[in-house]
Amino acid sequence: MDFAYDAKTEELRTKLLAFMDSHVYPAEAVLEQQLHDASDPWERQPILEELKAEARRQGLWNLFLPDAEHGAGLTNLQYAPLAEITGRSPHLAPEALNCAAPDTGNMEVLTMFGTDEQKKQWLQPLLDGEIRSAFCMTEPEVASSDATNIATRIERDGDDYVINGRKWWSSGAMNPNCAIFIVMGKTDPDAERHRQQAMILVPRDTPGVTVKRAMHVFGYGDHAHGGHAEIEFTDVRVPASHLIAGEGEGFAIAQARLGPGRIHHCMRLIGMAERALELMCRRASSRVAFGKPIAAQGVVHEWIAESRVRIEQARLLVLKTAWLMDTVGNKGAHTEIQAIKIGTPSMTEWVLDKAIQAHGGAGVSQDFPLAELWAATRTLRLADGPDEVHRMSLAKRELKKYV
Ligand SMILES: Cc1cc2nc3c(=O)[nH]c(=O)nc-3n(C[C@H](O)[C@H](O)[C@H](O)COP(=O)(O)OP(=O)(O)OC[C@H]3O[C@@H](n4cnc5c(N)ncnc54)[C@H](O)[C@@H]3O)c2cc1C
Repeated sequence: MDFAYDAKTEELRTKLLAFMDSHVYPAEAVLEQQLHDASDPWERQPILEELKAEARRQGLWNLFLPDAEHGAGLTNLQYAPLAEITGRSPHLAPEALNCAAPDTGNMEVLTMFGTDEQKKQWLQPLLDGEIRSAFCMTEPEVASSDATNIATRIERDGDDYVINGRKWWSSGAMNPNCAIFIVMGKTDPDAERHRQQAMILVPRDTPGVTVKRAMHVFGYGDHAHGGHAEIEFTDVRVPASHLIAGEGEGFAIAQARLGPGRIHHCMRLIGMAERALELMCRRASSRVAFGKPIAAQGVVHEWIAESRVRIEQARLLVLKTAWLMDTVGNKGAHTEIQAIKIGTPSMTEWVLDKAIQAHGGAGVSQDFPLAELWAATRTLRLADGPDEVHRMSLAKRELKKYV
C-alpha cells in the first residue's frame, strides 16, 4: 500500500497551493466587498471571472472530470487532494477552477448520457465556464430524500415534452448566468418504481419557468454560489430532443450523478476542516486569558489533537473510496461512498464547532470564515441525501451479509 501522491498529483498540488496563496485567499475580502457593493447580489462578481481566467491560464481547469476528452483526465485518487485544497475556500476556489457543484455533476451527466447535440449546446459552454447550470430534483411538496416521491410531470405531447411541477433548493439557479436546468420528473407514474422518472434539459428562459425566490441557509443568501432557488414549471414546453438518455432512465442517471458529487463534497469538507484547525491553532496561540495563551489550556489541546485524528481518519477513508471508484467503479465503491457521506460532514462540523469556540465571539462573526463554513457544512448532512437515509441503506447492505 503506497500512501504517497503520484508525481502528477504532486505537481498539480504545488501549483494549486501557490494559486490559493497568490490569488484565492486575497480574493476572499474582494468578493465580500463586491457582493456588498453590488446592486444585484446575484450578478456574477468580477473577481470570480478574474480568478477563472487565471486558473484556466495555469492549467488548473476542469480537474474533476476523469473523461480525458472533455476534462483533465485525472483519476478520483489524483483529484481528491486537489479538491481538498479548494475546500479551504469553498466560495471561490471550486468555481475558479470550474469544479463547483452542481455544474460538475451536470457536466458528468452530459458527458455520460448527452447526445452530440446536447453536448455541443450545453456541455461545451459549461466546460468553458461561460454558463452555469442547476440540478432540479428536490420538491417542496414531497419528502424528496425518497427520490421516487418526485411528482413533477414530464409528459410527451407531439414532438415536445411538457413539464409541470415545483422545485426548491435548486443550487446555483439564482445566478442569471445559470442558463440550463436539468429537471427530474415522472414520464410514466405507472411504471415500475425506479423506471417512472426521466431527466430533461430546460433552458432557463423557456416560457413557463418562474424563479420564485431564493432559499436562505441559516440566514445566508449563498450569493457566491448562485443561491438556492425555488422554481415553478408551468406548462413548460421543450423539444423531445431535450430528454437525457430516455424515458425511465432518470433514477439511474441520478444515481450515476450523485456518486462523484458526494465524494467531491467530502474531499472539500476535509479542506474546510483543515482550514478550521489551522485558524484554531493560530488564534488560540495568539491570545492570552488567565495568564497564559488559550492554546495552553488542556481542553484546547484536546480539541486540537482530536481534530487532527478525526481529519486524518476521514481523509484516509475518502482516499480509499476514491481509489475504489477508480479500480472497481462507482457501484463497487457504494458502501464507502455512503460511509464518507455519513462521516465527513459530521467530522468537519465537529472541528468547526471547536474552532468557533476557540475564537470566542469572533468565531461566529463576519471577520472569520468559520460561521459560513459551519453553515455550509451543516447543510451537507442534508444535501445529496440526509445522513439517516445513507445509514439506512448502509445498514441494510451490512445486514445482508448475515441473512
Ligand atoms: C444547501 C442545500 C443545497 C441543496 N441543493 C440541491 C440541488 O442543487 N438540487 C436538488 O434537487 N436538491 C438540493 N438540495 C435538497 C436536498 O438534497 C434535500 O433537502 C434532501 O435530499 C432531503 O430532502 P427533503 O428536504 O425533502 O427532506 P425529507 O425527505 O422531507 O426528509 C426530512 C428528514 O426526514 C428524515 N428521514 C428521511 N428518510 C429517513 C429514513 N429512511 N430514516 C430516518 N429518517 C429519515 C431525515 O432526517 C430527513 O432529513 C439541497 C439542500 C440544501 C440544504
